[in-house]
Amino acid sequence: MEKEKVLVLLSGGLDSRLAVKILQEQQNLNVEALFFILPFGGGCCSDKFCVFRFAQEQKIKLNIIDLTKGKLFQEYVEMLRHPKFSRGTAMNPCIDCHIFMLKKAKEYADKNGITIIATGEVLNERPLSQKKPALEIVERESRLKGILLRPLSALLLQETEAEKSGIINRKNLFSINGRNRQKQIELAEKYKISYPTPGGGCLLCEKGYCEKLKQILKNKNLAYKDIELLKIGRHFLSSKIILGRNEIENTILEKEQGIKIIPKEPGPTALIRNENKEKEKLIKQAKELIQKYSKREISGFVIKKTL
Ligand code: SF4
Repeated sequence: MEKEKVLVLLSGGLDSRLAVKILQEQQNLNVEALFFILPFGGGCCSDKFCVFRFAQEQKIKLNIIDLTKGKLFQEYVEMLRHPKFSRGTAMNPCIDCHIFMLKKAKEYADKNGITIIATGEVLNERPLSQKKPALEIVERESRLKGILLRPLSALLLQETEAEKSGIINRKNLFSINGRNRQKQIELAEKYKISYPTPGGGCLLCEKGYCEKLKQILKNKNLAYKDIELLKIGRHFLSSKIILGRNEIENTILEKEQGIKIIPKEPGPTALIRNENKEKEKLIKQAKELIQKYSKREISGFVIKKTL
């Protein structure tokens, strides 16, 4: 008999790894995983190779959706600009972010004849997105009511269709609740799986980063490169000018596309990424900023332009 396919959203952290293992134990299921490459990081595993390794070890098919590219990136940013539900302590729109990923997971599942989608979510483990009302919102908004299974907390949640029909044996699911991870650690030992130490990893939860992000988020032509560059340097005029803070950052900026202004004496390199009508004015301002952040008097500048 052909096994029923189930798609597990695999972030790489312990909870989603356990979701895979719990479902693999059910004899009649064929477990596949779906991993999202997120523009701002997130999940437990920023190292995607450790996710690849886990999927390989468990002999499961791993599907990847890259949200840092093209239309998907633009859609994600649009969600970030206008989340329907509340944000966390910084700009993190966790409920909307979960809905976004689950909608994409559903699209994939529908195309591939998969009728069960599962996550490693644990009831009350996170304050914003894992309270019961939030879990219900996510289910409803992603049109996965009765389809979305959370094996680690399933016994505390409504039965899914797959449980009702007996495809999934509810007796082998769990009732984990809250932030204490003792039960998960015991399960990891039972299944003999390794896992990374939990660590947010999502830049949208960092207030300092989000202050800079807010400045560029209004930019209609926002590219993933803009997001990456926010991680380095000092940013001025809504990131129209970026100044390196050390040798390494100077080198990175000098390799980027745009106008690079390099002082003849040791000092920060400036990058003007998006050439526009204000070019001359920005170059003048960049030179002033370089001087301000240099220890010595700057005698001149080299200007390089890469398109
Ligand atoms: S922390 Fe929130 S916003 Fe960031 S990736 Fe996770 S769910 Fe998305």
